[in-house]
Amino acid sequence: MQAIRVHEFGEPEVMKLEEVPELQVGPGQVLVKIQAIGVNPVETYIRSGAYAAALPLPYTPGTDAGGVVEAIGPGVKAVAPGDRVYTSYTVSGAYAEKALCLESQVHSLPPQVTFAQGAGLNVPYSAAYRALFQRAMAVPGEVVLVNGASGGVGVAAVQVARAAGLTVIGTAGTEEGRRLAVAQGAHHVLDHRLEGHLQEAMRLTENRGVDIILEMLANVNLGRDLEALAPGGRVVVIGSRGTVTIDPRLTIGREASVLGMYIWGATEKETRSLHAALGAGLANSTLRPVVGRELPLSEAVKAHHDIMEKRAYGKIVLIP
Ligand code: NAP
Repeated sequence: MQAIRVHEFGEPEVMKLEEVPELQVGPGQVLVKIQAIGVNPVETYIRSGAYAAALPLPYTPGTDAGGVVEAIGPGVKAVAPGDRVYTSYTVSGAYAEKALCLESQVHSLPPQVTFAQGAGLNVPYSAAYRALFQRAMAVPGEVVLVNGASGGVGVAAVQVARAAGLTVIGTAGTEEGRRLAVAQGAHHVLDHRLEGHLQEAMRLTENRGVDIILEMLANVNLGRDLEALAPGGRVVVIGSRGTVTIDPRLTIGREASVLGMYIWGATEKETRSLHAALGAGLANSTLRPVVGRELPLSEAVKAHHDIMEKRAYGKIVLIP
């Protein structure tokens, strides 16, 4: 079978499509024939060698895929050959024609959800759900600002928040991205490239401020986020690509909180809980991953360039 292999850390070009040995299922494992693979920014950080949780070389990147169960190992009860599934992490890597997974890493994919959409589920929707409900403890009726609503996590956050009864303000850097945010359920949209876009969020809340900010680029926005929070407001830092200066005093009068979010920090119970919530949202179609672009697996290098260099529109998905 074919898989992308990384033999050294570096630029996207270190990823090579290679012939690798067929995978054999062991006890408690599931072999998935992959139909589509989700590309996430974290895979570029790991590949570059700059990420704290580096993988041992050589490795096959990727955690998120949509596919069909091809074989199961002894003791597996949750799925059977022929089942449609999405993966949440793998044992062997997802940028490949097949992946070995633990039984706990495969989840049912309802028939109305395409394999490409299934590939866009795990990291983005886990991040959105964990940020909102396991970190910010969002409750219906609150106002959430999704600062970066046009990419994988942002689209997921808009859908998850809207379905839960929050008022959603989404931001994007392009007109196309803002239209996408509205189509996915945002009540209001703003342009995060404009100086003072957070003042507009204050106006939309009649100067009360927003209860929650889901922040995709904290190194740019965190200082101003604190000015746009309502009393008791929470900023959840989902993404950050550098440092930022903040005025901590802005948290005092509001009793505001800045919370980190790390999907790999979820306990086993939290992980089970969030995939149960995602399963329910897929079944009733409130969660509908948006696939912005499909590329062949052989173009993984281009996918890594694009996710870091281009404006976002839903998910980039690789097709083996
Ligand atoms: P993505 O699909 O590439 O989307 C990036 C998003 O950031 C787009 O909506 C983009 O909007 C937006 N953005 C760009 N400039 C911005 C600005 N100045 N202010 C606010 N938003 C801005 O990436 P993703 O998969 O959604 O991930 C988003 C971030 O979360 C990444 O940094 C990723 O590494 C991180 N993440 C963290 C975790 C965790 O566990 N902590 C989990 C998943 C993802 P435009 O392109 O429209 O400008």
